Amino acid sequence: MRAGAVNSSGQVSHRLSLPTRANRGPEEVIERIVSTVLKVIDQVKSQGDWVEAVGIGSPGIIDIRTGTVVTSPNFPEWRRIPLKQIMEKRLPYPVFLDNDANAFAYGEKWVGVGKNVQSMVCLTLGTGVGGAIILGGRLWHGADGMAGEVGHMTVKPNGLKCNCGNYGCLESYASASSVVRRVTAAIRTGTPSIILNLADGDLEKITSTLVYQAALKGDPLAMQVMKETATFLGIGIANLINLLNPEMIVVGGGLANAWDLIYPIAEDEICRRAFLTLAKTAKICKASLGDDAGIIGAAGIACFSMQDVSCAF
Ligand SMILES: [Zn+2]
Repeated sequence: MRAGAVNSSGQVSHRLSLPTRANRGPEEVIERIVSTVLKVIDQVKSQGDWVEAVGIGSPGIIDIRTGTVVTSPNFPEWRRIPLKQIMEKRLPYPVFLDNDANAFAYGEKWVGVGKNVQSMVCLTLGTGVGGAIILGGRLWHGADGMAGEVGHMTVKPNGLKCNCGNYGCLESYASASSVVRRVTAAIRTGTPSIILNLADGDLEKITSTLVYQAALKGDPLAMQVMKETATFLGIGIANLINLLNPEMIVVGGGLANAWDLIYPIAEDEICRRAFLTLAKTAKICKASLGDDAGIIGAAGIACFSMQDVSCAF
């Protein structure tokens, strides 16, 4: 988890980051969130500044009306956790909760690569594939506040099982974790690869970054998995372009570090599948704010909600 103080221009200071330790259950994670936020607030106050509100971006399906984490496919114990309510009991500030990909997109829209864009779709390729949609300059939350789950679009009928229960979701092919899972499974069944050497012979140490490095060195397994990843990402993006005709598609998260390898393959797939005019309009960009995007966006959502600025959402 990452925290920071964000000023009204979207600049971050007093950053803190620490492991989430989600396997220890929601109660311990919530304690860590509270103590991290309090540390940042102390630092802000010690410099004579003040805090208006706290914004949180959380993975999973979020009910933004009640500030509840309804469910989180990658954190199975998180079920109907009223995080906003819990946090507001512990902190003397209003708390605003949204999905982490929405926070990421809002950050990129506020001060990042999507600054002057009115319609865009964000994809974050990390543990899962997060997604967020901005239409008319506002986050599109949908009827239940849960829109934008582009990671759970089916891109391959009867494909790999996803943590959400469906088969063949984009997340099963284009997340950093799924790259590691597919490579590890292939090595276990005897496929030769230099990835194991790069990981000091330890399957547990394989990361998507190592797979990317191996692909750059021409390792056939790494190249094949990265090609498959980019192809499915292209299929997903082509669907989004045909559906929404957005000005911009923003791709972030750990796997976006392999952008130079992934993008040309994804672009071929997009050109093959999307309407040409729409595909030409949609600028496909790597996210620009790195790890700060979610912090800036969560704070921005809180800040603009406080001001009740109608153009913010
Ligand atoms: Zn899924």
